Amino acid sequence: MPVVGDFSTIRTEIGGLSVSELAKQFGTPTYVYDAAKIIERLNDLSAFDAIRYAQKANSNIAIVDLVRRHGGLVDAVSAGEIHRALAAGYKPGGEPPAIVFTADIFDHDALALVVEHDIHVNCGSPDMINQLGEVAPGRNITLRVNPGFGHGHSRKTNTGGEQSKHGIWHEQIDDCLRRADQYGIGVTGLHMHIGSGTDLEHLAQVCGAMEKLALSVGRTVTNISAGGGLPIAYKQEDSFIDIEQYFGLWDATRKRLEASFGHKISLEIEPGRYLSAECGYLIAEIRAVKQMGGNTFYVVDAGFNNLARPIMYGSYHPISIAPVTGDHQRGTHDVVVGGPLCESGDIFTQEAGGFVAKRTLPVAGVGDYLVIECAGAYGFVMGSNYNSKPLAAEVLIQDQEAHLVRARQTYEDLLRGESVLPRD
Ligand SMILES: *Cc1c(COP(=O)(O)O)cnc(C)c1O
Repeated sequence: MPVVGDFSTIRTEIGGLSVSELAKQFGTPTYVYDAAKIIERLNDLSAFDAIRYAQKANSNIAIVDLVRRHGGLVDAVSAGEIHRALAAGYKPGGEPPAIVFTADIFDHDALALVVEHDIHVNCGSPDMINQLGEVAPGRNITLRVNPGFGHGHSRKTNTGGEQSKHGIWHEQIDDCLRRADQYGIGVTGLHMHIGSGTDLEHLAQVCGAMEKLALSVGRTVTNISAGGGLPIAYKQEDSFIDIEQYFGLWDATRKRLEASFGHKISLEIEPGRYLSAECGYLIAEIRAVKQMGGNTFYVVDAGFNNLARPIMYGSYHPISIAPVTGDHQRGTHDVVVGGPLCESGDIFTQEAGGFVAKRTLPVAGVGDYLVIECAGAYGFVMGSNYNSKPLAAEVLIQDQEAHLVRARQTYEDLLRGESVLPRD
């Protein structure tokens, strides 16, 4: 079992380097990633034939490259992510394919790119089969299937059932197989990703649905994917999923299919959050300590333009303080942590529904650093330029060396491509 995260509220180091030195060197707000954590998480999943990183969780090419160098394959959900996979050194092709494009639609760029580079497609709608077949007949594809039920840690992350737009409805498989036949397309893979925050009980249900589906599609199937959704512990009381049991359920499903088909079936898992959440830390500087009636606020220079999960989902992130001086013996008090944006929802310590909560944190002052932890997944990638804030810098630490892997956006970058109307 992996070690549950370190929930101490003073953090002086990340990956063996001083937080305050990192902040001084790279400025704030900055995302810092610890490569060792990603490698550790990849190793947890080594029982699977393929670990396909869902790069949408953190698509910095240095992270994608790190996953590649440690044996992971990659999933791309857009033309942009295909470009990232290629830039990070993935070569299309291979068995199982190194890059898979998973989506519910092809936009024109994505269709052109998968055809140009011969990238394997995981089709999430019947229309995609025809669109691919028209321009590239004879390819093999995977079908992403919505088994008719779902799961997710919030309504926004539930990706199965009738309310979900994702995947091909389980009752339309025959229709999809006919469409594929029409273009000489072979259905070699089946995929179910039905939400983030999977539990084992629910998983058994998914495995059952996958088995039934594979048997109905038949012997062309050589690859099944368990999708993503592996949870991580954001809070001390959260539990990790038991990977051995998780693998065991899927492995048993795979073995039954192998027995009935008489050939090998490769078993993939497609984690995003599990690989990249815990490696990431958002370092901000406390710029004001305000007393608002009974509430103390730490107001920092990072906001939901940098990390949207709290405002979007009411997500909890561990928060710690990195004192700018060497003095680490501090009392604690209950505070609210907010960002700089002109919007009242710009609060990191909020719960679902937007209710402002307090967090017990060490006493800190202006100039101390505040570290928002477990922020490597769905952190930077959901960042925006709201309030015309430049995107943060990103730093990857490997072997106690810090590498700038994305420069902070400049004000020039911010205005790039904009223009005023010509004047007469
Ligand atoms: C988002 C996504 C994942 C990863 O989800 P996590 O909850 O981050 O593991 C995997 N597969 C697909 C198709 C996705 O869209």
